[in-house]
Amino acid sequence: MSAQQTQSIEHTDVLERSIFHKSSPGRWGVTLPEVGVAESDVQTLLPEAFVRKQSPRLPEVSQLEAVRHFVRLSQLNHCIDTGFYPLGSCTMKYNPKVCDLYGQLQGFTNLHPKTPAHLSQGSLKLVYTLQQLLADITGFDQVSLQPAAGAQGELVGMMMIKAYFEKTGQTQRTEVIIPDSAHGTNPASAAMCGFKVVELRTSQTGGLVSAEKIKSLLSDKTAAVMLTNPNTAGLFETEILEITQAVHDAGGLMYYDGANLNAVVGQVRPAEMGFDVMHINTHKTFATPHGGGGPGSGPVAVNKILEPFLPTPIVAFDDDRYYLQTDRPDSIGRVKVFNGNFEMMARSLTYILAYGAEGLEQLSKDAVLNANYLKEKLRDDYHLAYDRVCKHEFVLTSHKQKEQHPELNQMNTMSIVKRLMDYGFHPPTVYFPLIVHEAMMIEPTETESKETLDRFIEAMKTIAKECQDTPEMILNAPHTTPIQRVDETTAARNPDLNYFSANN
Ligand SMILES: *Cc1c(COP(=O)(O)O)cnc(C)c1O
Repeated sequence: MSAQQTQSIEHTDVLERSIFHKSSPGRWGVTLPEVGVAESDVQTLLPEAFVRKQSPRLPEVSQLEAVRHFVRLSQLNHCIDTGFYPLGSCTMKYNPKVCDLYGQLQGFTNLHPKTPAHLSQGSLKLVYTLQQLLADITGFDQVSLQPAAGAQGELVGMMMIKAYFEKTGQTQRTEVIIPDSAHGTNPASAAMCGFKVVELRTSQTGGLVSAEKIKSLLSDKTAAVMLTNPNTAGLFETEILEITQAVHDAGGLMYYDGANLNAVVGQVRPAEMGFDVMHINTHKTFATPHGGGGPGSGPVAVNKILEPFLPTPIVAFDDDRYYLQTDRPDSIGRVKVFNGNFEMMARSLTYILAYGAEGLEQLSKDAVLNANYLKEKLRDDYHLAYDRVCKHEFVLTSHKQKEQHPELNQMNTMSIVKRLMDYGFHPPTVYFPLIVHEAMMIEPTETESKETLDRFIEAMKTIAKECQDTPEMILNAPHTTPIQRVDETTAARNPDLNYFSANN
């Protein structure tokens, strides 16, 4: 932080100083039980290099001070529990608290991951039931819950595709076709498996993937095509059946990036669009926590062709008992310790069962309705990147506002969304998808009320007017947040991550 920023922090009441500043020798918050190991034993049990010479430098505060500190810090953050969070592609929807309740049942959380199957039938049943429900929802034959995120699901999907072509003696299939609208994890996952990524451009086809174009890229080198549908601009691929047919005719496989499943769950099943494998982001569609570094869960679902290659073990059911099926000779192996992040599975299952089939079907309809409502209400104020019915998200740009002030460099998407923070909203996703210049990608999700959507519309309209009348309000925004506009280049290029070096 610069000297100037440090000063403004110290003058701001709401900002919280580090907990080390509150430390006072001898204060304590909890008493810990006696350790059952004598100090002399520690010396003999641990290699010399690992034995502490000094006490750790921990803050010494009372319990009340610690609680207040962290609650205050949490209140400096915008979160889904405090406000609208229209982050496109991320599906920041409300997680019903009942998911926490069942995810945290002590019978689940206290279960040792090495408990033998005959003593953990309940937990195995939970995993098995979720596998079955996800297979049912997506139309696929089998599911693995091991991957810890969507990105790892992609990697697992590509590993299975690779294993399939090796098994069938088609090692010449080294190319994976990915549209330029895809999430960056798609080409990364394909490349990590040793595939060559072939980019498919969508700029001349209104953001959609054209079957014609795909056909021109297909060859006997094609291993797979990775698609997101609806795509990252919120548009449903209109030629999807022709595309999946053409890829199969050319001997390739279809990978479905399931990050946007929230838009179609209960309406259409990815397997029926002609896909062979997909991942599901449970934190986007099935209400497990989002962000904060996990733990996450990104199940993969496959059809019969890829089933033998699924990670091992799979939870199976036989003669009234659930067990870990490990006898899978073609499996790509284990991709996560134990069987994945179990608590996330408990949450997802709770969510799916609480909604039921009809609830899930209604959910995606509401998500799509909310997005189209916002889009129609804002179309006169902002330039709409794709003027057509959208699914669960849509893309605006700041072109109109830039044109009003060609002399102002900073009259752009970044400034506009920073001003949204002053109105109490989290900014939408910006500068993504990369194919749209100055993109603002807005996803309201199904969980927001009409009143919230109307307040967001009002704020966006007010901002459009401010861009015209009082541009300085926009250029210097945000004005009401604990930290105002920071120098992002310096923050990225020369980060100062040490509180004490900046403040002492
Ligand atoms: C979020 C997202 C991913 C990556 O999923 P993670 O669970 O964040 O790893 C992949 N593709 C798209 C389109 C996404 O939105």
